[in-house]
Amino acid sequence: MKAQPIASHFIDGAYVDDAEGAVIDVVYPATGEVIARLHEATPALIDRALASAARAQGAWGAMRPVERARILRRAVDIIRARNAELSELETLDTGKPIQETTVADWPSGADAIEFFAGLAPTVTGETVPLGGDFVYTIREPLGVCVGIGAWNYPSQIACWKAAPALALGNAMVFKPSEVTPLGALKLAEIFIEAGMPAGLFNVVQGRGAVGAALVTDPRVAKVSLTGSVPTGQKVYAAAAQGIRHVTMELGGKSPLIVFEDADLDSAVGAAMLGNFYSTGQICSNGTRVFVQKGVREDFLRRLKARAEAIRLGDPLDPDTQMGPLVSQAQLDKVLAYVEGAMAQGARLVTGGARAGQGQGQGYFIQPTAFADVTDDMTLACEEVFGPVMAVLDFDTEDEVIARANDTQFGLAAGVFTADLTRAHRVVARLQAGTCWINAYNLTPVEGPFGGVKMSGVGRENGRAAVEHYTQVKSVYVGMGPVDAPY
Ligand code: NDP
Repeated sequence: MKAQPIASHFIDGAYVDDAEGAVIDVVYPATGEVIARLHEATPALIDRALASAARAQGAWGAMRPVERARILRRAVDIIRARNAELSELETLDTGKPIQETTVADWPSGADAIEFFAGLAPTVTGETVPLGGDFVYTIREPLGVCVGIGAWNYPSQIACWKAAPALALGNAMVFKPSEVTPLGALKLAEIFIEAGMPAGLFNVVQGRGAVGAALVTDPRVAKVSLTGSVPTGQKVYAAAAQGIRHVTMELGGKSPLIVFEDADLDSAVGAAMLGNFYSTGQICSNGTRVFVQKGVREDFLRRLKARAEAIRLGDPLDPDTQMGPLVSQAQLDKVLAYVEGAMAQGARLVTGGARAGQGQGQGYFIQPTAFADVTDDMTLACEEVFGPVMAVLDFDTEDEVIARANDTQFGLAAGVFTADLTRAHRVVARLQAGTCWINAYNLTPVEGPFGGVKMSGVGRENGRAAVEHYTQVKSVYVGMGPVDAPY
């Protein structure tokens, strides 16, 4: 099998397997071919992973931050040097086109490790003067962190969680999605090659039950999940039993608002990136595109022309712009949303059908857009996670803000307008953790990323992530005799 790793798991510095674990077939989404066969982690392996993390974390947490950073920087160099090979593996694991994976997946993972390696040595406490006595604070690592990933950006997610956790002195046990288990193993291998002590970054494979076992283990101090809202609710509740720290990066139904004065070609381009990149499988996608009525037909005309020119095909061909969905299950789900939108009276602008004749059993679907979508249609309410854009129209600024906010989600939002004052006014009123003005879906590691409302708690990336991978110890220092009343 062309992407078979040495073994299913990476624990305490080495690949390990246990054939007693249930089988996980890894499927190349462009062909339906099984490219690797792994096993779920058995309870004994889960225990080994957590034990090795707990063992390794103490010395790592006590190490000088610049020394930890030096090791992480070596990992960055290795990732960058191997980007072509790693990106090809990412394409096989996810089906995403190589022209995306070579610039977006591992490269942004490397950026995250580089950023947090640089940041960690600058993290300090504060001194609080009390006129003689004083308090000083220490930012300490949390201990053993669990990372659980979704399948849409498997290697980026592994890096985005590992980077702040490790840089700030924690250890991590990471469980990738069972749909895309391969990239995280490479990250574990690279950390060891970079000189990281064994046990600090372990990878265990498995379905939800393995995740659940990790989340409830008493050795675990923190859980960071990227996944859907229903999984987030379960994981958050389980973590609460042990009063564990959590970061929840969950789903969205984000609004992208296009006012009549916007640069229309940029707005169309951003709406396409925010609905079709990674075959629409991005949590922060602007899946409710609100277009002001005066420019709606012009917007739709330009969108249709550009969408129909998108090149679908073999993800390993550098000219391919869109690959398949990640799995048969995801294809079925997305096609059901398309049928539902038609049944509910949305106007099909482009796409709407399976695609990829000649692609074997691949899970291809045409880039699809619907107009005349109304707020109550299922397509405007639920996360599709596929290349299906819903275009809604609006008249006024107040109206569109109220409708944009009328959702349980609050991950992201975007606004396109030439009016600077309006852009800031609108963004100030949007209920979303991440907003863009005249741009969409750019998530550089320097900026915090995360959601409000049901889309999550905590932040990844940026300085904000330090809060979520450290805890504050306050130390009161008495400088004089103790003044006791008895
Ligand atoms: P899921 O919620 O189905 O799964 C997420 C991860 O949680 C998987 O590794 C899954 O394992 C695991 N899991 C499932 N049940 C449990 C449990 N009870 N305890 C512990 N772990 C569990 O999400 P998908 O993988 O389908 O990913 C798509 C979702 O992720 C979308 O909703 C999307 O919006 C969201 N997402 C959010 C992002 C963000 O940053 N906000 C970014 C990317 C995606 P397994 O898959 O093996 O069952």
